[in-house]
Amino acid sequence: MDNSDVVIVGAGYAGLSAALDLTRAGHDVLVLEGSDRVGGRVWSREEDGVRIDHGGQWVGPAQTALLEWADRFGCARFPTHDEGRHLEIWPGAETLGYTSGGLPHAHDADQYHRLVDLLDDLAGQVDPDTPEACRDLDAWDGQTFEDWLRAHSASADAYRRMRVLIQGLWACEPRDVSLFHVLFYIAAGGGLDPLLGTLGGAQDSRFVEGADAPALAAAAELGDRVRLGAGVSAIAQDATGITVSTTTGTVRARHAVVTGTPPAQARIAFTPMLPLARRRWNARSPMGEAAKIHVVYPEPFWRQEGLSGQLTAYDAGPVAYTFDNSPADRSRGVIAAFVYGDDYRSWYAQSPDARRKAVLDTLAPLGAAAAEPTDYHELRWPDHAWAEGAYAAVPTPGTWRAHAAGRREPVGRLHWAGTETAGIGNGYIDGAIRSGVRVAAEVVAALAQESAQNVLGKSGP
Ligand SMILES: Cc1cc2nc3c(=O)[nH]c(=O)nc-3n(C[C@H](O)[C@H](O)[C@H](O)COP(=O)(O)OP(=O)(O)OC[C@H]3O[C@@H](n4cnc5c(N)ncnc54)[C@H](O)[C@@H]3O)c2cc1C
Repeated sequence: MDNSDVVIVGAGYAGLSAALDLTRAGHDVLVLEGSDRVGGRVWSREEDGVRIDHGGQWVGPAQTALLEWADRFGCARFPTHDEGRHLEIWPGAETLGYTSGGLPHAHDADQYHRLVDLLDDLAGQVDPDTPEACRDLDAWDGQTFEDWLRAHSASADAYRRMRVLIQGLWACEPRDVSLFHVLFYIAAGGGLDPLLGTLGGAQDSRFVEGADAPALAAAAELGDRVRLGAGVSAIAQDATGITVSTTTGTVRARHAVVTGTPPAQARIAFTPMLPLARRRWNARSPMGEAAKIHVVYPEPFWRQEGLSGQLTAYDAGPVAYTFDNSPADRSRGVIAAFVYGDDYRSWYAQSPDARRKAVLDTLAPLGAAAAEPTDYHELRWPDHAWAEGAYAAVPTPGTWRAHAAGRREPVGRLHWAGTETAGIGNGYIDGAIRSGVRVAAEVVAALAQESAQNVLGKSGP
């Protein structure tokens, strides 16, 4: 049996962040990762000579925890391609062009902006570090975002715009998420404009070597403290420590930090059983449903037509958004396309050929060459064995109100981290790193308290 001060479940950004801080504080750590790689929901892979980010990829100027890692490990970034006309596609193949800084005025864009301002105002009343203390928690968590939207706008097109916004940020439908969770997340991201923005916003930049570069560098620093292919199946807690059972053996530690998505955590058998609030919080925090698709071309041909490659489709095919995801050296043209929620489920049920055709059809407004890619990759995140969805968990309406105590309250020697436990940066890589910093401080304090008690115990009467 291996021994360690702290065992950490998961080598995503949260687990690696906790491990770095605990190691720096002088503690032994062992990071157990079930899959064969580090990075978790950030998954960069060489596909036919192009580095593709199948999961998380963007970093914005407000995401300082991730930027600090990037600088510390020397991971170069480059700006997201944002030049040229973006396109909106409406039913009937109506296509509108616009540039960054202003949506077209058609299709009730003004109403959409009014709703966005209203949401920002309401989000100002939620403190991302103490969301449970919000005065209107009960009322706001008691209604779905859909309820709120219907009460504030009767326009079908404003609804369509808002639905795509919800899909793009939470990978679900407006009926799946409470108004409160939406407001908390907006507060945690510093406002809707920063969350939705490309240059200067959360989609500002990408990593030249892929978004897992900082995670790989952190894992290299931790060396053999990170163990891959070590899926944790059970965690037992007793008066003196923790016993963690993995596919490769057993580890004994004084404390454990558990990261990973709520569905991944729910597969671990905990003894004794976890408190009700923790079990309910996880059970009522399903992952969003999203596919991230990469379509590869010999060159970014749309740029020659003055197009940015950014396209938003409103009820006009399965794809909601596209972005130009070409590599920094422009050696290929790459479009990333996202499919969410109800559209995901109906698209997913089709044959691979039909799915591919549906995606390529949505890209047709970029030019005739859109129909002739050299490569096509789908990552259907709900089928990803360790994550079971994207981008992050979306607590169902009423969950914050009833079970918030289960979100990150430690349970004896068990501590919780992961982007879902973050305040600032919740749902993002930045939040995952911050959650690791928070939990490491929590564990350091717990270990110090134990040591003090041991000393007192030994020197007592
Ligand atoms: C398609 C997609 C696009 C995204 N886009 C962005 C973006 O552009 N920018 C951004 O900032 N964020 C983005 N995100 C979100 C971001 O990737 C996540 O917030 C972040 O990576 C979460 O990190 P984490 O460490 O909390 O969790 P994870 O990355 O899920 O890490 C948890 C780790 O634990 C492991 N694990 C789980 N269960 C066990 C077990 N029982 N035993 C051992 N190991 C286990 C998992 O394999 C995983 O490696 C995106 C996510 C997706 C999926």
